[in-house]
Amino acid sequence: MSDLDIAMLNRCVELPLRYGTVYVDSMLGWLVRWLRMLGVSVNYTPSFSDDYLAGVNGLLITRDRNLFRLRRGESLLLLTMNHEHWLATAILVLGVEPSINGERSLCPMCGSKLVRVGKDVIKNLVPPRVLSTHDEFWLCTGCGRVYWVGSHHGRINAMLSRARELVGKLTVKCVGNTLIIQAGDGDPN
Ligand SMILES: [Zn+2]
Repeated sequence: MSDLDIAMLNRCVELPLRYGTVYVDSMLGWLVRWLRMLGVSVNYTPSFSDDYLAGVNGLLITRDRNLFRLRRGESLLLLTMNHEHWLATAILVLGVEPSINGERSLCPMCGSKLVRVGKDVIKNLVPPRVLSTHDEFWLCTGCGRVYWVGSHHGRINAMLSRARELVGKLTVKCVGNTLIIQAGDGDPN
């Protein structure tokens, strides 16, 4: 293993992967929230058992080498603690567009669809200051959380632009039947 290895997929396939359902292992809640914001439907609960995850249909994303070895279906093993590399790797493997699009984004907390709503619908659900200074609101059809386009979008876009840059530097190589994903030179994890 090289210092540049940041992830491996237990199949040598062309990327992006043609995936169905995506399962994400516990401890990766940060990645789950980002993938949902980018519109990826993710199954996640911190209480999934390894036995269950070893057998589910779809793609499993995990940091657990033992689970990766036990896994019968497709699995992406993240080898780094660098969160930006987690996101860049998932964007590459899943072929996701790294930009926020309200029509596509899912609720980062529960994964349900978001609908754009007028101020009258959410006026009692957000602080008055937010109501008076923002115009675009989205309501989660699952958990009822309200989202608005605000100052945090600068940070979100900065992260996505960083992820785009990292994706451009990733390289993949096939070793046996494992696809190794590496960070670019000079960009170790
Ligand atoms: Zn929700």
